[in-house]
Amino acid sequence: MKLTVLGTSASTPSKERSLSSIVLNFKGLNYLFDCPEGTQRQMMKAKISYMKIQSIFLSHFHGDHILGLPGLIATMSMHQRDYPLFIFGPKGVKEKIHKALDLSLLKVNFEIKAIEVKQGKILEEENFSIEAFKLNHDVPCYGYIFKEKDTLGKFSREKALKLEIPEGPLWSQLHKGKKIKVGKKTFKPEDVLDTSKKKTGKKISFVFDTLADNSYSQKIKESDLLFHESTFLEKLKDRAKETKHSTAKQAGKIAEKSKVKKLILFHFSPRHKETEKFDIEAREFFGNVIASKDLEEIEI
Ligand SMILES: [Zn+2]
Ligand SMILES: [Zn+2]
Repeated sequence: MKLTVLGTSASTPSKERSLSSIVLNFKGLNYLFDCPEGTQRQMMKAKISYMKIQSIFLSHFHGDHILGLPGLIATMSMHQRDYPLFIFGPKGVKEKIHKALDLSLLKVNFEIKAIEVKQGKILEEENFSIEAFKLNHDVPCYGYIFKEKDTLGKFSREKALKLEIPEGPLWSQLHKGKKIKVGKKTFKPEDVLDTSKKKTGKKISFVFDTLADNSYSQKIKESDLLFHESTFLEKLKDRAKETKHSTAKQAGKIAEKSKVKKLILFHFSPRHKETEKFDIEAREFFGNVIASKDLEEIEI
């Protein structure tokens, strides 16, 4: 699993930084979190395939998070994408996409499935799930949690055959941790799984524009990685409060409270030219932190 921070700026791109978005690459597919202006070029620079974007998760509809969408969709269409694109976002996401496409006179030759999110699980796949949770910004805004499924152990073909469990759906049920019945006999996952090989799935949390209150710290608890917006340094903490954003120090405090393993700061106001001070200020509360740079890659 690899994560790439495509850009790290807030509100406008700057000479130093592109606007904030993050790509998660998992089992060969890409999942994009926010799609501001500049996303396509940043993906090209990072050598990430936009044709392999399976889903896009939009935190909210402020321009610095969505204005790259029509351009990206246009490119996908020009390159003959012929499979659906899922776009998740707050209430009204369908209308917003429709308007963006209309504005740019775009005829899209693939299906766009717009899905309005509510707090809770919004996507369940074989190997992972995605959960949305509310943030506290001046417009409806969501954070997202990517949770890789736990593996219960390595499936033993030999054991399953020896126990005369017929190959097929029953095997996959056992693999998923469910009990099954064959005739009168009941089998448990432990009967066919080597549990010494079990692995807890990774948890990655994305916190976009928000006042750093404690409302979501339970949700992101014990994340392996926490991406947290950090628009301002402490000297502009009043501005952070006014505009419902976080400071680096507040993000550090949340990371500490939520017992995450690593904190990655992004979404820095162009008022701050340098980003070195962001991790210094966050470190007051939380040691394992980086102020990410454009095109920063994190493997996990
Ligand atoms: Zn923003
Ligand atoms: Zn915003």
